[in-house]
Amino acid sequence: MLSDAHTSAPGANIHENHLCDYEDATGIRCTEWGCYGFEESKAIALWYCRKHQPLNYKGLPRHGA
Ligand SMILES: [Zn+2]
Repeated sequence: MLSDAHTSAPGANIHENHLCDYEDATGIRCTEWGCYGFEESKAIALWYCRKHQPLNYKGLPRHGA
């Protein structure tokens, strides 16, 4: 079962609460707002703040580049 941490209700809008998905080396989650979404698959999207967004994600240019 996949984690449901990003949604509080079935069918919840994807634009509700989503903090940055970045974890540092000690497993501490970033607490910044995840303003940039990266679609990992049809069902899963990762969210990152401006600081932690991947510089290169699946060959796509970064947001705001
Ligand atoms: Zn972050």
